[in-house]
Amino acid sequence: MYPPYFLKGFLDPTLYFCYSGVMKTYTPRLLAKEAGLKKYLGQPCIHGHTGERWVRNNTCVECHKKTKRVKVYAKRGRPRKHELFVGPPKPKRVLFKPSTDIEFWIKRSKTKNRTRAARKELSVEDYKKLIVTHCPLLGIELTYTKFEGSRTPENYATLDKIDPSKGYVQGNVQIVSFRANTLKNSASIEELKLLIANWEKLIL
Ligand SMILES: [Zn+2]
Repeated sequence: MYPPYFLKGFLDPTLYFCYSGVMKTYTPRLLAKEAGLKKYLGQPCIHGHTGERWVRNNTCVECHKKTKRVKVYAKRGRPRKHELFVGPPKPKRVLFKPSTDIEFWIKRSKTKNRTRAARKELSVEDYKKLIVTHCPLLGIELTYTKFEGSRTPENYATLDKIDPSKGYVQGNVQIVSFRANTLKNSASIEELKLLIANWEKLIL
């Protein structure tokens, strides 16, 4: 792109030979490049900016700025219009860590898959208030330890709804043995009374 050094003095300084042998005139860009400048004043761009252009890639300075900004936004995301709202710090959730047999039983009872949602209303403190050593219905001693195998022991403690039509809410729950709970199931007192009366008739 530069004129050969031996032609510099003989020819018009605004003309030069390019490598293909064609004589060309110096452009403002070339002149700026020889002078060691980074920007030069060329033709105004199609977006109506002033003719300021970069020597390096011949682009309009203003247009280049815009496209550059777009690229940067694409890389790190569009800047936020308003600052992100950050509320007060949330208190840390304290997990219930059981250590004794009864506490492990509470955890097992609370997280039982079938009734988990229903028992969510009962807190650990509510459970602790319900703990009894003997079954209130059958009078047998209760165990809270985890049992092996699929067969539940007769004296295993289970949570029972006093009124079966109501849910597992505070005031409607008690702890009875597994045996009592299976016998009771969803029966009402009237039904049980009728059952016993009819059964006694058969035996006596
Ligand atoms: Zn432009």
